[in-house]
Amino acid sequence: MGLIAKKHEMPVQAADVRVKNFREVALGYDVETAIAEAGRCLNCKNKPCIQGCPVNVDIPDFIAKIREKDFEGAFEVISRSSSLPAVCGRVCPQETQCESKCTMGIKNESVAIGRLERFVADLYNNKKDAKVSAPVKNGHRVAVVGSGPSGLTCAGDLAKKGYSVTVFEALHTAGGVLVYGIPEFRLPKTIVAKEIANLKALGVDIETNVIIGKTLFIDELFDNGYEAVFIGSGAGLPRFLNIPGEGFNGVYSANEFLTRSNLMKAFIDHPVTPIMKGGKVAVVGGGNVAMDAARTALRLGAERVCIIYRRSMEELPARKEEIHHAQEEGVEFMLLCNPVEIIGYENKEDPRDSKNGFVKGIKCERMELGEPDEEGRRRPVPIARSEFVLDVTAVVIAVGTSPNPLIKDTTAGLSVNEKGGIIVDEKGLSFKPGVYAGGDAVTGAATVISAMGAGKLAARSIDEYLKEEK
Ligand SMILES: Cc1cc2nc3c(=O)[nH]c(=O)nc-3n(C[C@H](O)[C@H](O)[C@H](O)COP(=O)(O)OP(=O)(O)OC[C@H]3O[C@@H](n4cnc5c(N)ncnc54)[C@H](O)[C@@H]3O)c2cc1C
Repeated sequence: MGLIAKKHEMPVQAADVRVKNFREVALGYDVETAIAEAGRCLNCKNKPCIQGCPVNVDIPDFIAKIREKDFEGAFEVISRSSSLPAVCGRVCPQETQCESKCTMGIKNESVAIGRLERFVADLYNNKKDAKVSAPVKNGHRVAVVGSGPSGLTCAGDLAKKGYSVTVFEALHTAGGVLVYGIPEFRLPKTIVAKEIANLKALGVDIETNVIIGKTLFIDELFDNGYEAVFIGSGAGLPRFLNIPGEGFNGVYSANEFLTRSNLMKAFIDHPVTPIMKGGKVAVVGGGNVAMDAARTALRLGAERVCIIYRRSMEELPARKEEIHHAQEEGVEFMLLCNPVEIIGYENKEDPRDSKNGFVKGIKCERMELGEPDEEGRRRPVPIARSEFVLDVTAVVIAVGTSPNPLIKDTTAGLSVNEKGGIIVDEKGLSFKPGVYAGGDAVTGAATVISAMGAGKLAARSIDEYLKEEK
């Protein structure tokens, strides 16, 4: 059979259907397609894809196992390096990581590594109950702060080595951004729950509704017998635009908007938390978070959703696939536009209008691209007298997040950089002995796989540290 130049397509729900539901958009490969796609791997000598993966999954090996129809073997290969394969197969930016290095991709489309990873993980999860059993305990205790991908990975790797690990999570559900940020239609929550069940089966204990820095402090964890701590508290503090009108009802940070929808299911008929449904929604920002918020607003019944972004389509930082899906679903893109004011009105008749009034529009100015900035991206420059008002009933601000300062402010000995990230050395150790950190809490908002890589590194370092201490 000749070489197949293009990736095998993955079926998706039709745009006009999926925009009315929260079910997963991409439907995954069947066995035949997965084997055919695996057949596109050249099994090249240098295996550059492995270096492209932040946790160095042995990609050619797991793909070879798919070709041999040894799907369980393929799962085992992936699991040696990744504890969340069903998640990574869905949300990793493979196009800038493993797939960007694929030899096949030099002249053709790269092998669809992410889709194959997802296929293997789903097949395994659908067929088996978590058959993992807890290893024999080594008598040492480690605390993990935060149950996002960095914390869960660190916890899982330590549990496999026999450590008694407790994860302390501020929210009522474990999973971090995987449950409160990334919407159901990109990452079904049953998948995250299954991966967490696997970790629990390894003996990891997860305590929810515990805010480290309020309910308990890092130093208290040591007093309570934990010998090392990993901080994986993420970067959940939203940034705002600092323009007039951000206090009106109907202005959300993307985190609030997505948390209400994803974690608290505000879309159901009698939700425990309210959310603006319907109307005209402006989403400010151009990253994956903005795409997720815009597509969520559509599914919540918005009649019109506009992404407002101050650069052009070329600079839009979201994954191409997400932009494409958003366009197919009817999200509009107002590019080279910058909000300068949110406009509102008072409605004292409405009991929800306690003090601030409601959003009725967003004033923007048009931009053009000027000279490149220090990162090489052309700087947006306002065009004089170009202001206009877009009528909207809700504004979602998705212009980035930073690490929350709570843990730093309540823990002596931790240092943070100018962006609020905890400073660690090459082993993930902070300035405070026995306290390690990783993921978005260190780097600022990044990716699931880089957070997992940091969790893995810290688990290795904690193991070395506690072995030296013994
Ligand atoms: C909407 C959205 C979409 C995204 N899409 C993608 C994508 O498609 N692909 C991708 O690779 N990445 C994506 N990301 C980024 C990715 O999800 C993050 O980089 C990753 O989750 C970081 O993992 P983490 O473990 O460092 O932190 P988080 O996932 O943020 O988890 C931190 C956890 O710590 C808890 N916590 C915080 N403070 C405390 C405290 N004081 N005490 C106890 N618990 C605490 C939080 O409640 C949270 O559960 C997205 C992010 C968002 C917001």
